[in-house]
Amino acid sequence: MTNNELISRRDAAVARGLASAYPVFVARAENARIWDMEGKAFIDFAGGIAVLNTGHRHPKVLAAARAQLDAYTHTAFQILPYEPYVALAERLNALAPIDGPAKSVLFSTGAEAVENAIKIARAATGRAGVIAFTGGFHGRTHLAMSLTGKVSPYRDRLGLGPAGIFHVPFPCEPDGVSVDDSLNALARLFRADIAPADVAAIIIEPVQGEGGFHSAPEALLTALRELADTHGIVLIADEIQSGFGRTGKMFAIEHSSIKPDLITVAKSLAGGFPLSGVIGRANLMDQASPGSLGGTYAGNPVACAAALAVLDAIEEEGLLKRANLIGARIRERLEAFARSEAGVRIDALRGPGAMIAFDIVDAEGRPDAAAAKTVAQIALDLGLVILTCGIFGNTIRVLVPLTVPDDQLEDGLSRLGTALGKEN
Ligand code: PMP
Repeated sequence: MTNNELISRRDAAVARGLASAYPVFVARAENARIWDMEGKAFIDFAGGIAVLNTGHRHPKVLAAARAQLDAYTHTAFQILPYEPYVALAERLNALAPIDGPAKSVLFSTGAEAVENAIKIARAATGRAGVIAFTGGFHGRTHLAMSLTGKVSPYRDRLGLGPAGIFHVPFPCEPDGVSVDDSLNALARLFRADIAPADVAAIIIEPVQGEGGFHSAPEALLTALRELADTHGIVLIADEIQSGFGRTGKMFAIEHSSIKPDLITVAKSLAGGFPLSGVIGRANLMDQASPGSLGGTYAGNPVACAAALAVLDAIEEEGLLKRANLIGARIRERLEAFARSEAGVRIDALRGPGAMIAFDIVDAEGRPDAAAAKTVAQIALDLGLVILTCGIFGNTIRVLVPLTVPDDQLEDGLSRLGTALGKEN
């Protein structure tokens, strides 16, 4: 069956609200490579949107999932618990940069982790207010969508969200926002809109994902930590996109000296299986009453077994070091592309470890989303899957598996160079 035939069936059968970036149907995938239904091969620089730090079908992950499939696949942890869930919670508690003893609770999607982090913060503080940042992305469920700081397409014609949610500008050069601007906006918010004593949580991505791989400066994180401590506000780090080795540390917040109260995790946690979680200070995590957290599929045993294998792979294969190594190589090639006058204009190369992005701008230096889209489309034609993002839609981000073989990384970067008009 051809991609075109499948696209027709897709368009007839699947709701329009779910957009697919590319008209390519997958037949098979292995580590950093994908083959479509027509037999065309691709190098994967998208990783299923930051899910595949350990690559497609990592052998350790598959072996662990297969063993779990042969034992049992579902009981619902809230009916009959199972050991892989507990073992994973223990591993996450030990790994997470949380001050003092930690506890965890597992779900299936990133949005669910975010929703539950807010529930825990509300239960712990007895307050309702939540502060999030412009350009942030926290999911598509109702509350998570409302926390997301970008209207189009995520909140387009979806009306008002729940009360008590406020957005503060995220420091971001292309948006003309400094750390002082952010902190002044927070002070203004506390003067004009909500008392700090009514705020349950501040949620922030240590490196914004969908927003364009902008890192939260240390000065902002320090100020947020101080505000949270002064006013009894829960500080939540959303590490759903930035976690599990992508930035060269297990968690991106470890690039700073700040310890959040709660951390949301998902995506690369389980190497392609749906699993998410909230890790946090034990005394906060225990404030939600028994039965108030959970979900039928939350913490599925096959996904937990896969996640334990992902953590083994990161450790045994030195993937944090590898993230820095391939990150340096990606940066080197992209810097050369940025210096070249040929093709599209590249600006603001950024991001820690292997969480790297750059902007495409026009001759006047303004964001050029159409050019970024064209580059991604040409890359696809050349056999490279790569994603755009950013508050202006003009950012290209690299989320290649950390396990990518060197030759495929070079090949992928060359294809990107061609798509950018920098190389032939
Ligand atoms: N938070 C962040 C930082 C994300 O990048 C995403 C997904 N892009 C989410 C939350 C939502 O995760 P999910 O799509 O699994 O609900």
